[in-house]
Amino acid sequence: MTPERLDNLPILFKRLALDTLSDAKRQLIAAVDASLPQTQCGLCDHADGCLPYAAAIVLHQEPHNKCVPGGQPVSDTIAALLQRPTLPARSSPWPISNQTQRPTAVRAVIREDDCIGCTKCIPACPVDAIIGTGKHMHTIFTDLCTGCELCLAPCPVDCIDLVVIPTPLSVQSLEQRTQEQAHLRQRYHTHLNRVATQMLDTSNAKPVTSMVETKLGNAVHQSLDISEVQAKRTIEAAKLRTSIKKLEKQLSVRVNPKKQAELMAFQQQLDALQQAESPLIEQPIEQPQNESL
Ligand code: SF4
Ligand code: SF4
Ligand code: SF4
Repeated sequence: MTPERLDNLPILFKRLALDTLSDAKRQLIAAVDASLPQTQCGLCDHADGCLPYAAAIVLHQEPHNKCVPGGQPVSDTIAALLQRPTLPARSSPWPISNQTQRPTAVRAVIREDDCIGCTKCIPACPVDAIIGTGKHMHTIFTDLCTGCELCLAPCPVDCIDLVVIPTPLSVQSLEQRTQEQAHLRQRYHTHLNRVATQMLDTSNAKPVTSMVETKLGNAVHQSLDISEVQAKRTIEAAKLRTSIKKLEKQLSVRVNPKKQAELMAFQQQLDALQQAESPLIEQPIEQPQNESL
């Protein structure tokens, strides 16, 4: 396996600093990665998928038997590649197929009548096998699904089931498996690149429905702000009216220039407030001055 497999990787893998390694190390990591199923399920304790696990096996002596979907065949392949002792494969929650010696294949299926269209399962799928839009039923492309189970946990209504795939009549050839793994790896990288692009592009970071929701949210907030300002004005005007009435009562009994000035000031403030509350009231159009007059 050529180390070029490790070139032009999604940004998620930058932290692995694979480009700083010797060719020999890169070659080993590429070979181990190529032997992994590319399900990207994280059951090897590497939530970011097969490549980080391959790097950990080569660089940090991590046990090579942790890939659950790979089962015993993958554990043995890596042991041979790295000339390490064989290890029993990590136990699987699914029965081991007698034909493949790997866990029985499963696929996720959405119970479409129960789906509430919340879209939470879509970003969880590492190979973009789920389609659907907000508030609409979602569907899984069974052919693309690897049965990784990552979409199960985010579903708030628990409407995703796993179904066992009937055992194929003939065991997959090495060539078929290699092709399938290359396809899954490509889909995972496309998924990662798409998500990264969405995160970086703030102008188009969300699907159309979410952008509409955001705009709606902005409009609602704006209207809340307006209501707040209006409420403050109403309270202020009420206070001014009370003060004005009080002063008018006092001034009707006894003349007082100071209180008279206060009254005029309050009246002006009230006029200003009332004008601000009805900005759309048409102002009288000023007639042009006749220069001859
Ligand atoms: S397929 Fe195997 S190596 Fe890849 S993420 Fe799953 S458990 Fe890890
Ligand atoms: S649909 Fe679910 S189970 Fe299938 S690959 Fe996607 S996340 Fe995994
Ligand atoms: S998370 Fe569950 S309810 Fe939400 S869209 Fe996916 S399948 Fe439907």
